[in-house]
Amino acid sequence: MHKPVINHTIAEALAKVTARIRQAAQAAGRNRETVRLIAVSKTQAAAAVAQAYAAGQRDFGENYVQEALEKQAELKAFADIQWHFIGPIQSNKTRPIAENFAWIHSIDREKIAQRLNDQRPKEMPPAQVCLQVNIDDESTKSGVSLNELPALAKAVSQMPRLQLRGLMAIPAANNSPEQQHQAFRKLHNALRELQAQGYAVDTLSMGMSGDLEAAIAEGSTMVRVGTDIFGARTKP
Ligand SMILES: *Cc1c(COP(=O)(O)O)cnc(C)c1O
Repeated sequence: MHKPVINHTIAEALAKVTARIRQAAQAAGRNRETVRLIAVSKTQAAAAVAQAYAAGQRDFGENYVQEALEKQAELKAFADIQWHFIGPIQSNKTRPIAENFAWIHSIDREKIAQRLNDQRPKEMPPAQVCLQVNIDDESTKSGVSLNELPALAKAVSQMPRLQLRGLMAIPAANNSPEQQHQAFRKLHNALRELQAQGYAVDTLSMGMSGDLEAAIAEGSTMVRVGTDIFGARTKP
């Protein structure tokens, strides 16, 4: 891939999102450096990722395995990109996820975690992982329930090729601002409970284009932003 020319639309959008993060952190009395921005590049071309890279972005999130692998192959020259897998994980797709991502945010079953652990290549560092919690108890959404979280955390924490870092959630899309805060607060409390039980977890992956301010106010350490960086997605 050729050295990308900076695309001002993406560079400006990134600057805007970064400013929102800084402002939200400041309002919460937090250091901006405590919130990491994951640029969600699903359905976007490799060229768009390269443009965000040229503007300084290094963390990228992908939802679909095949699409991600093709993009990673095109972007091999950008060796310091940190790839985050944030989509639903089917058990027949665990191997390429274990082999090609630094972070995996969407673990919600022990069986999937075990496969990722067994398939993580020995020459790579352990995968950094979050457990996805179905925080609003939506029947259609993936994620472990809060009731089942302790057992899953225990199992994953004992897997040597996975490093349990924290929790991830996607709250209901139609939440009011107050409901957004409530959902994010619930996830933060669940993280605190794990910490109280002795787990060395430090990551709250929560907040997207529409609710990153509420997420940062409630303690998010990773926001996953697609639309407000790359524009609306045309493909599903
Ligand atoms: C698509 C997606 C995002 C980004 O959503 P936007 O609203 O476009 O910012 C974040 N997290 C997950 C898990 C996603 O699937």
